[in-house]
Amino acid sequence: MLKFEQVSKTYPNGYHAVKNISFEVDSGEILVLIGPSGCGKTTSMKMINRLIPHTSGKIYVQGKDITQENPVTLRKNIGYVIQQIGLFPHYTIEDNVGLIPELKGWSRDKKKARVSEMLRLVGLDPEIYAKRYPKQLSGGQQQRVGVARALAADPDIILMDEPFGALDPITREQLQDELLRLQQEVKKTIVFVTHDMEEALKLGDKIAILRDGELVQIDTPEQILCHP
Ligand code: ADP
Ligand code: ADP
Repeated sequence: MLKFEQVSKTYPNGYHAVKNISFEVDSGEILVLIGPSGCGKTTSMKMINRLIPHTSGKIYVQGKDITQENPVTLRKNIGYVIQQIGLFPHYTIEDNVGLIPELKGWSRDKKKARVSEMLRLVGLDPEIYAKRYPKQLSGGQQQRVGVARALAADPDIILMDEPFGALDPITREQLQDELLRLQQEVKKTIVFVTHDMEEALKLGDKIAILRDGELVQIDTPEQILCHP
């Protein structure tokens, strides 16, 4: 579903941020990218939806080399959730979640039904929250909206870059549990970035450990615990 083949990234200033990384993620799987700040996690994510170009190697989404695809088309099939949430403050919750369906030209009714379904899926009652604005929600609720927005257009791939990093421990644990529950239902291909090993062990089907741009180990949580 998502495949990296010897992917490298050198920034224009010559900095070699990602070095020869290979991995595969299937649908229904969560791959966790873990490592200290600056090891290349965000760079790896941004290459998947072509926010930045990779320098060498191949990235395949559903068997297709991403450089052969229109970046806009590609991004409509990839949900992206980031720590800074990225909700549009002047859009209602409904319009934030309906953004990609809108861009895809869905009918009003189909879009509205989908937005309600997604809000319910992440535990927010659409009757209460659809017409509110982001600042009228708590941080945890906003992050739920971020997840709902990423799922709304039914993308095959979801990229989550420290999505729960800014939340208090209790909300964070709730959202981790919900993500696992959600994944049972939606079976997406998920790449989840964190620097927290506890979170990685809880969420990952596979964990890829990055250090200075290199992938030093990729294993199941069980294997990681046995051979750290
Ligand atoms: P992480 O997400 O693991 O914290 P990043 O992927 O953001 O790491 O960054 C990896 C390395 O690449 C860091 O050393 C960072 O400073 C560097 N880097 C990120 N963006 C750029 C850029 N636009 N130009 C040059 N170096 C960059
Ligand atoms: P993140 O890890 O979420 O990308 P950063 O704070 O590392 O956040 O980077 C913020 C922005 O600055 C990004 O667009 C990144 O590409 C860029 N950046 C990071 N490090 C460098 C660097 N050493 N040189 C130039 N740009 C950089």
